[in-house]
Amino acid sequence: MVGRACKIPIHYLGMVTNKILLTPLSHYFPALAPSEKASQQCYFDSAATACTLASVIEAMSNFYERAHGSVHRGVYESAERTTTQYESVRGQVAQFINARSSAEIIFTAGATDSLNTIAYVWARHILEPGDGIIITQAEHHAHYVLWHEMARRYGAHVYVLPIDPITSCVDVSGLDHLLTKSIKVFAATMSSNVLGPIWGADNYLLRQCITKVRSVGAGVIIDAAQTIAHAPIDVERLECDFLAFSVHKMGGPTGLGVLYARSSMHAHMKPYRFGGGMVAAVADDFMTWQAAPHCFEAGTPPIAQVVGLGALLDFYTKYVDFAALRQQEATLCAQLIGALESIPGVHVVGNKELLSSQGHVVSFYVDGIHAHDLASSLGQYGCAVRAGDHCAQPLSSLWGNKATVRASFFMYNSPAQVEHLIAALRNCISRWREIL
Ligand code: PMP
Repeated sequence: MVGRACKIPIHYLGMVTNKILLTPLSHYFPALAPSEKASQQCYFDSAATACTLASVIEAMSNFYERAHGSVHRGVYESAERTTTQYESVRGQVAQFINARSSAEIIFTAGATDSLNTIAYVWARHILEPGDGIIITQAEHHAHYVLWHEMARRYGAHVYVLPIDPITSCVDVSGLDHLLTKSIKVFAATMSSNVLGPIWGADNYLLRQCITKVRSVGAGVIIDAAQTIAHAPIDVERLECDFLAFSVHKMGGPTGLGVLYARSSMHAHMKPYRFGGGMVAAVADDFMTWQAAPHCFEAGTPPIAQVVGLGALLDFYTKYVDFAALRQQEATLCAQLIGALESIPGVHVVGNKELLSSQGHVVSFYVDGIHAHDLASSLGQYGCAVRAGDHCAQPLSSLWGNKATVRASFFMYNSPAQVEHLIAALRNCISRWREIL
């Protein structure tokens, strides 16, 4: 996606506003407005959830403030307008990820819901005892636990591609031995929420894996929760069958996710939630469903959130230059990693070189200081970072199951904020070392 000229280049939003104080960040992201406690909000937890964009909030409140109606039901003017708007956002999503048709876009409650939906509408109908499911050690629990549970229920085996402790990338050396017709599912995250990039430069290892697993007929599922806001996604180029993400990690509302399902898979998918909006005809002895995507969206959907997503995608299309955004985020990763490496007893996890060229998260642990203590002390300096296992427990066995602190970056973070984080970190570490 190519960014267009705009008044304030959005990919330098953080840097520009911090240096010259043009337009306050809070103009775009109201949650970043200075508070009584902190003159600047250093929000480094966008990998968990990003600050919501002002135009999204505005679109949603406009929606609630005027007459609307439920989608695909009412025949009065405002209900029909709502349906048109809802369906046009589906088209925007299709375009955003280069899906062939808006029928391939299913609205869900979030990435977790999208992934579970794949398991329920597709995988459970095709899995048989002895079948294989390939995942990676870096999966979020939303993938890791799901596929173990599906394997347990249907008698399948889960094969976990390990993370190489030296390169912090997926070790694909064992893949060829697994490739038989019994492999039915390949389910992988495109970017780890702890390590960041795990598939080498420009994801070449992922592309290799996809080509190989497709050759034995496996379905390809991509968890794009940590990618969608940071890099362009092209489902055709990626050759995936399913792709999942949450809208709240992009600057949109919570409670909304997207599931891309390639149209060639629709014939093998069966609805698993039943109710209004998904049926064509109902009688005691005869029930038929709407075509996809509607048969997978039972009940009143999150309409206001979808309207918010429309505003969000307008923003991305008009202002976000992904190449510049990647450079901005990766530069912040490099800045933080450089400083962390100079502090004795601090260990960065992940591939530092890849993080410095295409990363958006930096995770680390400090000898003798628990990640939660550190994160809570950093909070007193106005720095919001995440600490823990980040819903990826099997991954942390690589560094002795220790909790890590994670700083994650997005378009509103700047080098000045990272400098502030580094200074705060140095203070917190020496204070904790005095106490312990
Ligand atoms: N996958 C990855 C890689 C994630 O980082 C997350 C969120 N931390 C999820 C899945 C789940 O997203 P959600 O909680 O929005 O459903």
